[in-house]
Amino acid sequence: MGSLINSDVTEGCDFKPLDPEEFRKQAHQMVDFIADYYQKIESYPVLSQVQPGYLHSRLPETPPDEPESFEKILKDIEKDIIPGITHWLSPNFFAFFPATVSTAAFVGEMLCTCFNSVGFNWLASPAATELEMVVMDWLANMLKLPQTFMFSGGGTAGGGGVIQNTTSEAVLVTLIAARDQLLDVIGVESICKLVVYGSDQTHSTFTKACKLAGIDACNIRSIPTTIESGFSLSPSIFRKVVEADVAAGLVPLYLCATVGTTSTTAVDPVDPLAKVANDYGIWIHVDAAYAGSACICPEFRHYLNGIDQVHSLSLSPHKWLLSYLDCCCLWVKDSSSLVRALNTQPEYLRNKPSESNEVVDYKDWQVGTGRRFKSLRLWLILRSYGVVNLQRHIRSDVNMAKMFEGFIRLDPRFELVVPRQFSLVCFRINPKSHYGSNYIDMLNRKLLEWINSTGRIYLTHTIVGGVYLLRFAVGATLCEERHVVAAWKLIKDGADALLKRSEE
Ligand SMILES: *Cc1c(COP(=O)(O)O)cnc(C)c1O
Repeated sequence: MGSLINSDVTEGCDFKPLDPEEFRKQAHQMVDFIADYYQKIESYPVLSQVQPGYLHSRLPETPPDEPESFEKILKDIEKDIIPGITHWLSPNFFAFFPATVSTAAFVGEMLCTCFNSVGFNWLASPAATELEMVVMDWLANMLKLPQTFMFSGGGTAGGGGVIQNTTSEAVLVTLIAARDQLLDVIGVESICKLVVYGSDQTHSTFTKACKLAGIDACNIRSIPTTIESGFSLSPSIFRKVVEADVAAGLVPLYLCATVGTTSTTAVDPVDPLAKVANDYGIWIHVDAAYAGSACICPEFRHYLNGIDQVHSLSLSPHKWLLSYLDCCCLWVKDSSSLVRALNTQPEYLRNKPSESNEVVDYKDWQVGTGRRFKSLRLWLILRSYGVVNLQRHIRSDVNMAKMFEGFIRLDPRFELVVPRQFSLVCFRINPKSHYGSNYIDMLNRKLLEWINSTGRIYLTHTIVGGVYLLRFAVGATLCEERHVVAAWKLIKDGADALLKRSEE
């Protein structure tokens, strides 16, 4: 706030929300607080043990009228907030997929917050737009994406990348681009004929995006997969489903293929699926939220074979490329379809560079208008670590998952439900006896409940093909081999106790 000289309103007021010296002091204190937190993170239960509503009773009904000291606030974070945290950064967090972080991304985030630039168009902060373009091309290079997905491959109307918040938005904006492009041809009244495709393993966000995009719920095809095919989408079944839709007078619009499904990291075969889809003019999006990051290593790149034939690809560095939440990278071949669908030109945003068509205005590539300078995080990651260390990081996680997979193989009471492909191990206890499948499910539920109640590690489950299984997702940034070894010992102890009890 500026000082209004001679104003009664400011009498006795010395309120400076951004005093650089005060900032320096508090921010240093906060950095120490954070470093201490990271150092002692293992001492907290991984899964928060509080009950619903715990915080309401601990905090006052109204905010303070007068300022409180920073020291007091820090104490309350320890006392009231930390107990309600599920510690995603704990090395003993093996649930869902990890949310990976790094010093480089953190300091990049500090800088992003520092500038607080609201880079909706090029002029609003040229560096914010241009660094994002550079970083998205760098990442595209690391993934060996074809030139058609890069800015360097063609200028502002062709291919390029953009940072979205999450996969949900990446799917939504590409779906809307595909929808409008097709409706331009067949007429907007045909919207109820549009059909979209995924498998029964496609992330739930796809259905949500379809709802938001006005796709008739009856026209969302969730094509069944099987355990025999590793839960990946079969191109021949996909073709049959599309043919039936066409025969029924419907219009195929969009396929969401997944590289690394959320339940089991199944991989839909991009190349043959794209061949089918392209026969019908279907927009193909590849959702590689988690596993896409692994494709920076040559030994995993083959999972993206056929990517030259798709329209868009997204992956989330907040899952596996150390970037902190949120950061979802989306590449499209034809950015003009996105821009046609999403651009707005209010008078107050008009400016010469935008009208020259020589610049990218990222507001036209996303849902919102305002956007943060998130490319700083990725830029710092890429520069501070180099491709070599990022590849090491992926491989180290995969190797730890392999080690865990080995433990499962050696214990006859356990089994792998599907082969491991990345750093997720899908397993269950199955003491091969006369027990029925309901009983086995129940044993696994009990085992999971017991494991998580100890607070020492955190795992989650899924059900695929009717099978209840436990997911061991390696890759929390602080995780080392010893944590995986200790986790396995805990799981074994749980199994010992459970099986002993069930035999009594
Ligand atoms: C995690 C996940 C999502 C959701 O991703 P966010 O970017 O975190 O919203 C979507 N699809 C797949 C395959 C995922 O694993």
